[in-house]
Amino acid sequence: MRLIILNILTQTWMLLNFTDSCYLLLRATSWRNGIRNKSCLLVPSKLSSPNYSIIAYSLFPKTLKMTENLIIPIHETFQKTIQGEGYWAGAPVDFIRLAGCPVGCHYCDTGYANGGISLPRQLKTFDELINELFSSRVVISGGEPFIHKQLPALVNRIEATGRQVSIETSGCYWQNISPKTWVTLSPKQHISPKYPILELMWTRASEVKLVIETGQELEFYSKILLGNNRIPVFLQPEWYSRHFTLPLVLELLQENPNYRLSVQLHKYLGLK
Ligand code: SF4
Repeated sequence: MRLIILNILTQTWMLLNFTDSCYLLLRATSWRNGIRNKSCLLVPSKLSSPNYSIIAYSLFPKTLKMTENLIIPIHETFQKTIQGEGYWAGAPVDFIRLAGCPVGCHYCDTGYANGGISLPRQLKTFDELINELFSSRVVISGGEPFIHKQLPALVNRIEATGRQVSIETSGCYWQNISPKTWVTLSPKQHISPKYPILELMWTRASEVKLVIETGQELEFYSKILLGNNRIPVFLQPEWYSRHFTLPLVLELLQENPNYRLSVQLHKYLGLK
């Protein structure tokens, strides 16, 4: 658990670790008519990033504007693994999984099928995240990374260390990230129509990774995929029903020889 202590007067802040608190303590010192005022506010810490930002802004707009580019809620991080999916499959990577995704895919393998309410999450500073890194490529996934307005600042900080960054997204949200960043678009509009893919994603994405569960997915996106042969398209058998989806994908590849297979290599190798 973390406590953020803010000082509006000096525009400084501290992030402290505690073990048993379930609140964020926001503490401010201000001066009015020559009198020094101290105040503390407790807000629940179980906040997704958008909620956190909204509450924080309403409390201390100026000070929080400064801190929001330095901390981000994460679900987990792990290092020295390999990218198991898509174009960079087999590349050594570190993972930063950001917390939160509203899309609610029923087969979500990162715990967000029901919104991820019971998943662990914690705030980490950009410095903490960067100090953990080993690999030359860093994958930022989720959840849905683009719900976090701090994402462009985090990407810039990581790329400034000389590393390459890949972001995995469902394409429903966007933040203005660096043009160097690799973007993997994994469309989910066919199962969550409430979350349509943003138009710009089809031109900004570096690859499309389509999870195949029924075979109808290709038909759903066929118009846009056929009109866009700029980027590689990977068909990935849905993991839980792979006895059915792997042979299905092999058939679909025969009919669509420009597409490629993506098999979640890390799962076959027993890696995270
Ligand atoms: S978009 Fe991705 S993270 Fe979100 S629920 Fe669907 S599969 Fe899970």
